[in-house]
Amino acid sequence: MSQKVLDSLHPDFRPLVVAALAELEQTHGIKCEPYCGLRTIKEQDKEYAKGRDAKGNVIGKITTKAKGGQSPHQFGRAVDVCPYKPHTNELWWDAPDDIWNVIHLHFEELGYTDDRYLDSGYDWRFRDAPHVEDPRWKEDRAAYLRGELKIV
Ligand SMILES: [Zn+2]
Repeated sequence: MSQKVLDSLHPDFRPLVVAALAELEQTHGIKCEPYCGLRTIKEQDKEYAKGRDAKGNVIGKITTKAKGGQSPHQFGRAVDVCPYKPHTNELWWDAPDDIWNVIHLHFEELGYTDDRYLDSGYDWRFRDAPHVEDPRWKEDRAAYLRGELKIV
């Protein structure tokens, strides 16, 4: 498991992610790799550029609607996870929906915090199945916009 990715997460969010990953493996035998946590503004801009031309027009497959500073990843409040194919070390990007659904439910149910649930991108209209975020990122972003919180 990528400890570096887990270490990059906000200290309030990290234990929820660790608990959900452990529960998924122990209860359902679904081992997941957290492959992306904190992303810098520059890295987010690079992600945003995928599938777009220099003016920002969509010309291919896009992976995000968020520019640098607009994603919970810049605040360490989001993690992207991918299951492993059973009994292999291979990431299972095209895992069937029922597997993604179990992952999504575990994060949302186990990630209950401060009267709010973690939010998984699995059921979003712009589907982002590997993505799980902590809703408290919106407060971080507001603080960032007020100049009270620095991000890289
Ligand atoms: Zn994500």
